[in-house]
Amino acid sequence: MAKKGAREIVGMICKDCKSQNYVTERNKVNMDVKGRGKLELKKYCQTCKKQTLHKETSKLK
Ligand SMILES: [Zn+2]
Repeated sequence: MAKKGAREIVGMICKDCKSQNYVTERNKVNMDVKGRGKLELKKYCQTCKKQTLHKETSKLK
């Protein structure tokens, strides 16, 4: 698991309650090439008890 490279661990936070519910890996190289904004995904939030939009955050709790 000690891979070197441009991978980065990012958290996914619920846009409704701001809880960090998921952690995912992200490829920095692709991110730079794309030059896009942050990831947003629909995921289940245990706090809201429903599917909500989750936004990428680099600040891990
Ligand atoms: Zn939530």
